[in-house]
Amino acid sequence: GSTGQSSYKQGYANSSSASSNDDASLFVTTMIPLVLENKNGIEYWRNTTPQSTRFCRPVRILFAKETKALIESERAVLSSEVSNLKNVSIVLQNGHMIEVVFELYLTIIDGKVLSVLNGVASSMCCPICGAKPNDFNNLDNINKDVFQPRQGALLHGVSPLHCWIRFFEFLLHLAYRIPFKSWQIKSEFKLVAAEQKKLIQARFWKEMGLRVDYPAPGGSGTSNDGNTARRAFSNYKLLSSILTIDEKLIVDLRTILIAFGSQLPIDHDKFQEHCHQLIYHYMSLYSWFKLPASVHKILIHGADLFRVVHWLHESRYENENRYQLLL
Ligand SMILES: [Zn+2]
Repeated sequence: GSTGQSSYKQGYANSSSASSNDDASLFVTTMIPLVLENKNGIEYWRNTTPQSTRFCRPVRILFAKETKALIESERAVLSSEVSNLKNVSIVLQNGHMIEVVFELYLTIIDGKVLSVLNGVASSMCCPICGAKPNDFNNLDNINKDVFQPRQGALLHGVSPLHCWIRFFEFLLHLAYRIPFKSWQIKSEFKLVAAEQKKLIQARFWKEMGLRVDYPAPGGSGTSNDGNTARRAFSNYKLLSSILTIDEKLIVDLRTILIAFGSQLPIDHDKFQEHCHQLIYHYMSLYSWFKLPASVHKILIHGADLFRVVHWLHESRYENENRYQLLL
């Protein structure tokens, strides 16, 4: 979903109602081919840039706001289309037959859509386990029921692009509160937080040439995007100095972001260890700031997300004896 697009000054000729005449919001569903491989898991082709628009094909482009009802109806439409997909058989000149089987997953979705799909009521809660902000910083919850993923919640994967933005914004919001070390901005600290934000924005502009955390034109969202976040993280020494946040924390977060965007195999156990180590390190420095759901999601469920992708990969071959195109 994308809101705050500029509206065209004339109405559309074929629009029937006032709402379908509104082109300020876009809701796009796309299909991205990920891998083409045979029954033995030998890959013929892999999309090395799944986040790029290069192989991205729109399934549907709607002028509509991303509401809960729309997300749910779009899922129903897609699920029924996916279940009606037929295998494609190709007979080669030498008589050999290739059968192509398609597997589709709803992935690369942001936190809001994930919450709706997983039936989690608030976007403040974890879209995977449903835990609340007050649970996130309690390290006793690790490996306990509170942080148990809901059924099917891990199947939607993770969107590396959104992770870059969310991690970056997490650091920004932490940095704004460092002078008074409190998650909640009480009225007596409102001015201090605003001053700190201004100071940080000025340094970003002067020292990195980045406009950070300004409201986006149209009144929805901010100027923060994936490119801003990647640029900022790439110079982690300077980022640490601008935000006055521990450099090791920034480097360790960046390592996770790079791992998620990587096409190379990831050691799940080492990844989990890295995340847990990071949480303990974070808690030793900034326990007063509640982890946002988007960061908790990756630190606690990241290794499981990797495992599910791996498991899907393995389990497909048990009964299959065909060529597969995984979309
Ligand atoms: Zn969770």
